[in-house]
Amino acid sequence: MESNSNYKTINSFFDVELKEDYLLVIDIDDTILAYEGMTRKWWKEKMDHYLEIHDTYEKADNACINNWKTHIENKNPCHTDKDGFFDLISRAKQLNLEYFIVTARDKDHEEITHEHLNYLGIIDVDVYFTSGEDKSQIIHTVMSKPLECYKKIVFIDDLRENLDDVKDYFGDENVVCYKFKHSID
Ligand SMILES: [Mg+2]
Repeated sequence: MESNSNYKTINSFFDVELKEDYLLVIDIDDTILAYEGMTRKWWKEKMDHYLEIHDTYEKADNACINNWKTHIENKNPCHTDKDGFFDLISRAKQLNLEYFIVTARDKDHEEITHEHLNYLGIIDVDVYFTSGEDKSQIIHTVMSKPLECYKKIVFIDDLRENLDDVKDYFGDENVVCYKFKHSID
């Protein structure tokens, strides 16, 4: 596990420390699961391509997301860390923690998302869709108690901007961020 000033980089959920009265929030894409051949490199190549043919970043981004959606509808995901993930959930249950998934996916992708989580055996975790909004806002809306009732919010995501958003919103002292890094290509 490597550490920097803002968060810990992990490649296994076994490295996530849970304690009583923590709130656990986990991302989906490139955190819990990944699609072979559709990771960061795929996004970069597609984005470069769409930036060449579209006149705005937004249009290119939309084209990229649509392309990604078409692709994942015909693919099965794989676990990034199957044993670690189920161990994490089981530890959260033992400690009686509140936990849920927050994804940047659109709400209109709810069906395929549940299908793919089910495929991986993930059936009993609530999923919230930000549809591109800040994850901090959704967490704030969904968490059942006021912030001061939690000892810490544990937030696991692969993207720095999401980790920064949650840290900034809830305050450095209230959040433990983990940057997940898997090795699926
Ligand atoms: Mg992600």
